[in-house]
Amino acid sequence: MNPEIIKTGDDAGNRMVIKYKFPDGVTVHGIGVPQAWESSLGPTWSYVVEGDKLTLVDTGCNGSLRDLEEGLEIVGYPLSAVGRVVVTHGHLDHDGNCFDVVSRSGAELWAHEVYGSLLGLTHRDREADWRQRFIGLPRVEDPTFEVRFREHAELGQKLTLTNPVTDGDVSDGLTFYYTPGHSPDELCIQFHRMLFSGDHILPQITPHPSVSMSYTRFRDSLPEDYQSGNHYYGLKTFINSLKRVSKLGADITVMPAHRAYHRGKFNPIGLDRAMAIVEHHRDRCAEMIQFVRKESMDMASITKKLFPHLDLSDRIFYAAFSEVMSHVELLAEMGDVSMVGQDGRSVQWNGSENFQVFFDQA
Ligand SMILES: [Zn+2]
Repeated sequence: MNPEIIKTGDDAGNRMVIKYKFPDGVTVHGIGVPQAWESSLGPTWSYVVEGDKLTLVDTGCNGSLRDLEEGLEIVGYPLSAVGRVVVTHGHLDHDGNCFDVVSRSGAELWAHEVYGSLLGLTHRDREADWRQRFIGLPRVEDPTFEVRFREHAELGQKLTLTNPVTDGDVSDGLTFYYTPGHSPDELCIQFHRMLFSGDHILPQITPHPSVSMSYTRFRDSLPEDYQSGNHYYGLKTFINSLKRVSKLGADITVMPAHRAYHRGKFNPIGLDRAMAIVEHHRDRCAEMIQFVRKESMDMASITKKLFPHLDLSDRIFYAAFSEVMSHVELLAEMGDVSMVGQDGRSVQWNGSENFQVFFDQA
């Protein structure tokens, strides 16, 4: 089902306002909040849910408040009318406007409890040294991104998570599912036959998996219940969360945070998209084993083989590299590869393909 366009935007859906109307009469609006920088990703879709409280699911990135506010006015509400902000996960393109929305409206802030424990941390600094160690290359940074990440951390320090949720919580027609993997605090939120999926399930693009190794870097900041091993970071976690939500119902409409609209077309998806993402990662794991079947290869070389168009000096290379790393970690956990050589940067095949068994599990 395609939504109705209430206000047109550009080809990517920036500044577009759309309205979903379901057969049972339930309506939800979406606002295409542009990124505050040049981006091929397109906007972050902020969803407006009317209930006991006026709820916003995600707010868009810092620097785009005016666009969110204008979209909300077209739906029929001033920013001050927002009673609750629900954050799908703590990445700046999702919660960057939270501080301004909350301080101008007095709205409650709802997110997973892990979101609260990580608020205001500078993620990149904590991971910089091991990224460098494994990549074996100097750290490349784009100063404009550094500024944006720092600003996001400062905004986070000023926020208070008034309503931390955990898996299975229900409130005002919303059911919260904890779906870590892309991010350790990722939530999917069900409302009637809709699932707000944040970056857990996206059309067209595969969400970036986090890496298991981040657990060692963030463990001391996580709540007490999260200390006994990693079920919050990495590709294995992400795949388990995808399999889990895929069973919520064949008639569910997925409301993604990105790419709901792209190049002038809507991209409606259901939960079968979750399993398509799982299969994509299975194929990637198989591809990596092909690369190292004959001789071991370091992770930077695997990245270059998988993404031949990327320049090593490119900031994007780091994202591609950690994508490779998330697959290597899963293969290593399954016993299919070992890390060998200097600093354990090289991947050696152990002769098995146990990862297939993991992907086959229901
Ligand atoms: Zn995002």
